[in-house]
Amino acid sequence: TFSAEDAKKVMETQCPFCSVQCKMEVVEDRSGRRPTYQVTAIPNKASEGRLCVKGMNAHQHAVSRERLLYPMMRLQGELKRVSWEEALSAISIRFTELQSQYGLNAVGLYGGGSLTNESAYLLGKFARVALKTKYIDYNGRFCMSAAASAGVKTFGIDRGLTNRLSDIPHAQCIILAGTNIAECQPTLMPYFTRAKENGATIIVIDPRASATASIADIHLQVKPGMDAALVNGMLKVILDEKLTDESFIQKRTKGFSAVKEHLYQVDLEEVAEMTGVGMDRIRKAAIAFGKAATGMIFTARGVEQHADGHMAVRNFLNMILATGKIGKEGCGYGAVTGQGNGQGGREHGQKADQLPGYRLIENADDRAYIAGVWGIQPEELPGKGVSAYEMMELVHSGDIKGLFIMGSNPIVSNPNATLVEEAFEKVDFLVVADMFLSETARLADIVLPVSAYLENEGTMTNLEGRVLLRQAGRPAPGEARHDWQVLCDIAYSLGKEKFFTFRDSEDIFNELRVASRGGIADYYGITYDRLRKEEGIYWPCPSLDHPGTPRLFGEAFAHKDGLAVFQSVESESPAEQPNDEYPLYLTNGRMLSHYLTGVQTRRSPVLAAREVENILEIHPNTAEKHRLEDGALASVQSIRGTVIVRTKLSSAIREDTLFIPMHWGDAQNVNRVTNALLDPNCRMPDFKSSAVRVQPLAEY
Ligand code: SF4
Repeated sequence: TFSAEDAKKVMETQCPFCSVQCKMEVVEDRSGRRPTYQVTAIPNKASEGRLCVKGMNAHQHAVSRERLLYPMMRLQGELKRVSWEEALSAISIRFTELQSQYGLNAVGLYGGGSLTNESAYLLGKFARVALKTKYIDYNGRFCMSAAASAGVKTFGIDRGLTNRLSDIPHAQCIILAGTNIAECQPTLMPYFTRAKENGATIIVIDPRASATASIADIHLQVKPGMDAALVNGMLKVILDEKLTDESFIQKRTKGFSAVKEHLYQVDLEEVAEMTGVGMDRIRKAAIAFGKAATGMIFTARGVEQHADGHMAVRNFLNMILATGKIGKEGCGYGAVTGQGNGQGGREHGQKADQLPGYRLIENADDRAYIAGVWGIQPEELPGKGVSAYEMMELVHSGDIKGLFIMGSNPIVSNPNATLVEEAFEKVDFLVVADMFLSETARLADIVLPVSAYLENEGTMTNLEGRVLLRQAGRPAPGEARHDWQVLCDIAYSLGKEKFFTFRDSEDIFNELRVASRGGIADYYGITYDRLRKEEGIYWPCPSLDHPGTPRLFGEAFAHKDGLAVFQSVESESPAEQPNDEYPLYLTNGRMLSHYLTGVQTRRSPVLAAREVENILEIHPNTAEKHRLEDGALASVQSIRGTVIVRTKLSSAIREDTLFIPMHWGDAQNVNRVTNALLDPNCRMPDFKSSAVRVQPLAEY
């Protein structure tokens, strides 16, 4: 509720819907009969004063009438309103019972890449200290794990962009691989158009002629899952044309001779056959990148969400290293993060194998350091758990009997979603903290209402590794609490209060700073005071007088010997190939108006109205072959399940490939169909190459 003097609120905040974290002002005026909202972009160094349609309308979900206002508990089969005390008591009793009966690992936690750094940090601590379970992972596993693990192996560090966004216009050649920036991070597009105006060649690698491909000088319309092979072809051309930077390779890297040997075996004709991209185009793109004095490569989920996603990214990094395009202006690599805090969310201990500061849970020194920060003994810390989808399998098999989910909707976002639906229907005890009754929350035993971005103060780390402070301007509605408060409250009811005595998000951040000190993602020198005064600070920032690190690897890489590491990569086709029964590839992705599983954007009237239902993008020739007309309902099936979607004819997509967005649940959930095969290096599922068939719904 608002007092009269409070009728007009001016809130300075950040858009929650992608990793750019555009700054904005939201003015809420409640003086009239109905509240009105005015949204204006605030210039800052990342978004440069731009907002896309998602940002302009983000407040709509925060003020939605569908917001959850009080805790609910399942009683006689239905979710009913209860007090916080009842909910917290039930959670602590049930988790304690399950852990006493079946062991500490009978309970799992599942987090999200949209949580603030503080909540992500606290969730990791809550798992290891309050519940002492090894089972914690998060939806960022599906977002960044391939690029993150590739960055760590090649460079010794994982930061989304190795340099700042303002470097982009200085690049003379830019490769955008599997990333549809025009729809997913629209306010970044001017950086690329500025580079183009400066004479840059833009190369887009994507099975679809996406909105981003409209600025491409060269579009390589690769078959899904064939990026690693395509890069082998490009590297072969770069080698043959003597476009490698031998001095850089010799001084700054190791392992190139093995890659060179491997590339001698690569046959460009075979690459063209495997990838569906003509030899001439492969040559043209490789020469453009090799000859350019400066250049950058960006990858996103189109490259990464495959069972060889880690290796595919490593091959793009090979290309950066082979041409010496890193560590200087206009050069570098960027993993274009999708989630609002995709970068920070993966740095502070939500992952099964990690502790805060990117420390490793299996490393004795890292365990000892974090145990010291948390005031426990190293041996009290649990070991390494399993990845997000593997946790779903353990819930399905009954090994995990209780699950706590915060900031995520796994029933829609996991591959092979039918298995996840079954798992959640039979799990003993499911607790979900969310703003809305999501598809996952609908199945919960207890639902806890949490605050939205306008209400919840905390830091977010954007795709550049720039830490930004998001202020809170509005009280949370009803009885909703902040994520971090919920974790502290449960910890209290579990009797672990001495480890969770935080008064506010700044208090948590100050502990996070110490926990991250000396780690890969070192936040020690970043404080709320500094963030209030400066326009964000790039990690690593190891001391209070350190300016932060906008550009990495100018002098040395982060491995102990300072060298970057080449890795030869095999050209392999995805394990699941089209066949007689399932003759087409299916890939998935985002649409302009929606975010993740759509829980928030489907409740923002303007965004929901722009794209009201899920679609099947299909080439007109393929549609004709399968008796589908534009606008008709279609059934798309894989060996795992079926999704029902409305046909949209488009000659922008390959004839052998279908595309379905990922923002809807239930019958429209594309993940009922997608492949759960996991990358052996990072456990990323193969979301983007499933073999499917399609038919009119009437014939299904
Ligand atoms: Fe900016 Fe991304 Fe939000 Fe659009 S969705 S306003 S690009 S943060």
